[in-house]
Amino acid sequence: MAHLFSNTFNTHRRKIEMGKNSKSIKNIAILCSGGDAPGMNCAIRAAVRSAIFKGIKVWGIKKGYQGLINGDFHPLNRQSVGNILHRGGTILLSSRCPEFTQKKYRQKAYDNLIKNDIQGLVIIGGNGSLTGAYTFFKEFNFPVVGIPGSIDNDIYGTDYSIGFNTAVETAVEAIDRIRDTAFSHERNFLVEVMGRKSPAIALEVGVCTGAENIILPQEKIDYEKIVRDIERGTKRGKKSSIIIVAEGNQTGISYEIQNKLLKNYNLHSHVCILGHILRGGSPSAQDRFIASQMGSLSINQILTSKTPSYIVYAKNEFSSKHIRYAKKDHNKTDKKILDLIAKLSI
Ligand code: ADP
Repeated sequence: MAHLFSNTFNTHRRKIEMGKNSKSIKNIAILCSGGDAPGMNCAIRAAVRSAIFKGIKVWGIKKGYQGLINGDFHPLNRQSVGNILHRGGTILLSSRCPEFTQKKYRQKAYDNLIKNDIQGLVIIGGNGSLTGAYTFFKEFNFPVVGIPGSIDNDIYGTDYSIGFNTAVETAVEAIDRIRDTAFSHERNFLVEVMGRKSPAIALEVGVCTGAENIILPQEKIDYEKIVRDIERGTKRGKKSSIIIVAEGNQTGISYEIQNKLLKNYNLHSHVCILGHILRGGSPSAQDRFIASQMGSLSINQILTSKTPSYIVYAKNEFSSKHIRYAKKDHNKTDKKILDLIAKLSI
């Protein structure tokens, strides 16, 4: 069969090529990598059962790329993925694995796949994990399919990544509770939400909780505006406010902001860091629905695609994109949402 990717190399005897007749795929493996996200289990369940439906055996790899390197492979059957749809986290466990950025460890990972007679790999994870999958594909031409799984919703090419909706729902519920106490004690709160470089959670949560202000890691913090906005509220009788802070790369940045507001403007505030709470919990119906479809589509994709790809959900439709695009930066702040928050909090 003519090879589609001439720039790749493979020194192994049992060469596996993307786009091979789907009949030659007998075993596939699945792993979760990077930050965990509610709904990953739904994607695992859907991928495993869709593969079994097509007569393919599935192996679960524990702890992401680490398990791939260590040969931590476990057979999965339809019962192994029973009763997990509603569970947060991932039954396969996840990890960050610095070794996988080195060629010699990726070679070990490849050798383990070949040793276990696996012909396709499904990776559920964020930007980093999908980038790793692309690197792996380029070196070994091993068939890979990515499923976007990240609470940060920052993966290029897809409007949605698994876990985002649940994380937003969790934050909104928490902030509604904080509102009650903020109102009762007439306090200002800085509520810090996860999101690494991504503003997505902070923006959506800001709108849904009627936040008075929003602080994003990549934007310069305009302390004077924050204080002006609070004073404007106070003049019309408002006695408490919620400011959403996106943590960026620095969990706890809210304490710095709190100190500056107090020292420079004599503005008192309380800090609440939601942190890892946003990663946990039972996935929302939306996450279950999207993850189930992405999981199932990943199997069609690995059987039929001639290119390494990841499943995307864009403009209300599922499709796939070449996995090289998952590498692109996708952390633009939606100014329209920022404007909306400002407009609605006057
Ligand atoms: P996420 O997938 O949630 O964005 P990370 O960015 O931490 O999380 O990436 C998860 C893992 O993916 C890393 O620990 C590493 O094993 C792998 N990875 C990330 N970038 C690369 C890369 N350029 N090459 C190879 N592997 C990578």
